[in-house]
Order: sequence, then structure tokens, then C-alpha cells
Amino acid sequence: MGNDRYDAVIVGAGPAGASAALLLAQNNSSVALIERGKKPGSKNMFGGSIYRKPTAKIIPGFWEKAPLERSIVTDELWLMDKNSAVKVGFTGLKFNEPPYNKFSAIRSKFDAWFANKAVEAGANLMTETLVDDLVYEKIGLLKKKVNGVKLDNGEIIYADVVLIAEGASANLTQKAGMRGRIEASSLTLYVKEELALPPEIIEARFNLEPGEGANLGMIGYPTSGVIGKGGLWTNKKSISLITGGYLNQINAKGISPYQLLSRFKKHPLIKRLIAGAESIAYKAHVIPKGGYENVPQLYDDGLLIAGDAAMMISGRRGSDIAMLTGLYAAETIAQARAAEDYSAKVLKGYEKRVMDSFFMKSIKKSKSAKKYYKDHPDADYLLTKAANDAAYRFFEVGVEPSEQKIKKIKKEILNMEPTKKLITDLYYGFKDWGIF
Ligand SMILES: Cc1cc2nc3c(=O)[nH]c(=O)nc-3n(C[C@H](O)[C@H](O)[C@H](O)COP(=O)(O)OP(=O)(O)OC[C@H]3O[C@@H](n4cnc5c(N)ncnc54)[C@H](O)[C@@H]3O)c2cc1C
Repeated sequence: MGNDRYDAVIVGAGPAGASAALLLAQNNSSVALIERGKKPGSKNMFGGSIYRKPTAKIIPGFWEKAPLERSIVTDELWLMDKNSAVKVGFTGLKFNEPPYNKFSAIRSKFDAWFANKAVEAGANLMTETLVDDLVYEKIGLLKKKVNGVKLDNGEIIYADVVLIAEGASANLTQKAGMRGRIEASSLTLYVKEELALPPEIIEARFNLEPGEGANLGMIGYPTSGVIGKGGLWTNKKSISLITGGYLNQINAKGISPYQLLSRFKKHPLIKRLIAGAESIAYKAHVIPKGGYENVPQLYDDGLLIAGDAAMMISGRRGSDIAMLTGLYAAETIAQARAAEDYSAKVLKGYEKRVMDSFFMKSIKKSKSAKKYYKDHPDADYLLTKAANDAAYRFFEVGVEPSEQKIKKIKKEILNMEPTKKLITDLYYGFKDWGIF
């Protein structure tokens, strides 16, 4: 299995852990990257988009070699009702030219490639290895410092510092006392199905050329009254379809996310996009949506927390933020190594980097959206209903003066929701989607 003492042990070979492992190994640190899955990515899923700019901070020019699916040129948001959708979107063909904007990807392939970059740089990747707990050494009479990890087979691997990058479950983070229990209202649960289709059919259905991709996001119908999203990504030879929402609402309504997905696939506008496709993969995963007030303590003596385990999610962005927290952790660990001091005093530098980051500013701002949805769990439903009813009226060809028609539409909308509430629903709809 390799040494039993490393400069750093990293728990979890997702985007956060693999980034930190790669950067530390490039900096000549000895690193163990421990992953419970058969291979990195086998336990992971996302929608999903890999964003070019942040990812290139870890691996410059990654798009030339990474197993990416398509470069996204079409981005749309659909407000969906039973048999209609109001669509807001953009197609920018420039996004299919280097250095690109974002890519669709499949995590089982992408994570394996990414973690292998860390291995090529010298990290020791241990797969099918579950970390069960942290181990501590005593310093002085009262203090203790993390000194390594204990595996589920009882083996101990020692390290100067441990980086927990275990993802949303945050079991070790909780065991280490870095955070309390995560409430269901701070988690969203999503299911994803990957559906195989020939590339020519995908390109014809989404108006794409080879290599180009589309990403459609949906609110309203796909979540059946729960605050959440539907999403569709075109891959090379498949379509990824997801739906889900806040776990507490899913539980309260007694619906299974699998039922939600099956219902979503039957929507007449989705059915035609996936017609003839063969189901090739099915996965479920949670997203930590606790926001700023649920960010755990990020450092301790000999310990750092990165990525989803640290609640680092903002709108539609998570994997890139995980990578950036991996980068900040690696920078801080390098400083601690140079100072030969892995105490909380030095590792606190990580928290400062995270708190000063652009993404933390967005996470802090999203606090108000979370509260809004708690107070108005019907916001998405009312917004999509109002938008679709108004659009039906607007596009329906009538035999009345247009001013009269507009007046009627306004009145109908106002009967459904007061203007201020409608505008606020719309604002939070976009904000939560990650536009602001
Ligand atoms: C439905 C859905 C859609 C999403 N869409 C997007 C998107 O389009 N774009 C985007 O940027 N982000 C998206 N995200 C978010 C993104 O997937 C996460 O933010 C990102 O994966 C977090 O990376 P991470 O490295 O922190 O954790 P993870 O990717 O969860 O990796 C953690 C790793 O740790 C391993 N592990 C856990 N515990 C242990 C243990 N005790 N011992 C050993 N190994 C362990 C796991 O097996 C896993 O491989 C989406 C998420 C979901 C669920």
C-alpha cells in the first residue's frame, strides 16, 4: 500500500481532493489520496458542467486531454408548465472555440482522469479504501492535533496534515466535531439518468454541430411543487437528465425522486428530446445547500476541510469551487510545510483565502434566497404558472385590440400573484439559478 507516513493525507478523490493532491505532489510533498470507490468518480455524479476558467487554474489547457463530452454553446432556462415552457436562452458559437467556456462531462470518466494527473505527479492513490476516523496526537496537556487517519480495516496512515474532501455526506467532518448535524432543509436530493442516443440524433434535436453542446435548466413542472430544478446536458453519445429539490420538501410531500424523474421524462417537451434513447446509468446524490451559516469550521490543528464537505456550493457551481478550495488548501499546506508548523495558527490562512474568494461572496449573498424559499415554497410553481398562462394569452391570435389583450393578461396575472411578489419570485428564480 506504500508508506504509512505522508506529508499530507487527502480523504476523497473528487475535484477538491484531486486538485489538492495534484498541486501538493507537484510541490514535492508526499501525498496519499484515499478514495472509497472502485476508482475516482465511480461514486460521484453531477449534472454536469465543468467550467473552463476555474479548472484551468489547476490544470492549464486541460481541455486538450481531459475526457470532456461537448463544449456548451447553448444555455437555456425553461419555466415549465404541464404542456408548455417559457424559454430564456443564449447560443454563442464562439464558446466552441479555444479556450472555450464550459463543457458537459461525465464524472466517472472525468474524476478518474483528474485523479490520475495527481498520480502522474507522484501522489499515492488508494482506491476501495474507506477512511473511518481521524487519529490525533497529544500536544501539551490539553491540546491535540490531527496526526493521520484510521481506515475501516484498522490500519493507520500518519500525516502532518489531513485534508477532508469527502463530499456532501461530511461524515468525518461531523465526527471531527467541525460541524453539527446537517438538516434536511440544507440538502437537495437529485436523481440522474444517462440516456444513450447516436450523436447525429442529439445534434439534430438540439440544433448543434459535432462537438457543440446544450445545457437546459428547468424550474416548475420537473419538481412537482418542490423547490428544485430539472436539467438536461448533451454529451457525445448520451443525454444527462436530472431532477430533484430540497430534501425536507421531498420528504414532506412523500414523493420519491425516482417518481419525479419518471414523471419529468414523460413531459411532452422532454419526451421528444429523449425519444428512442436507452437508459445506461442511474444515480442519486445530494448537494449541500446550507449556505454561509452552515459552513463548518474550516481548519484545526493538522486539519483542513474542502469542497462539498465545507458546504462550498453557489448556484449551479460546485465542482469548480471544490477545485479552488483544493488549490487554497494546497497553498496553505505548502506554507505550513515551509514553516514546519501545521498548527491551526498557520492553517487559518486557508480560511482567509476561502473567505476572501469571489465564490464566498456569492455564497454569502445566497442566504437571502434560501430564506425566501423557506417562506415561499410555492414561488417556482406560481412563477412558472403565471409565465406560461401569460405566454398562452400573448401568443394566442385573437380578434380584439392589442391594448385590450395586454390589459386582460395583466389582470389575470395580478389575480394570481401581486406584481411585487411576482417580480421577487422571478428575481430569486434567476438568482438561485446562478445568474446573479
Ligand atoms: C445533481 C447534481 C448536479 C450538479 N451539477 C453540477 C454542475 O453542473 N457543475 C458543477 O460545477 N457542480 C455541479 N454539482 C456539484 C458538484 O458535483 C460538487 O460540488 C462536487 O462534486 C464537489 O466536489 P468534492 O470533491 O468536494 O466532493 P465529491 O465530488 O463528492 O468527492 C468526494 C469523494 O470522497 C469520497 N469519499 C467520501 N467519504 C470517504 C471516506 N470516508 N473515505 C474515502 N473516500 C471517501 C467519495 O467517494 C468521493 O469520490 C452537481 C451536484 C449534483 C448532485
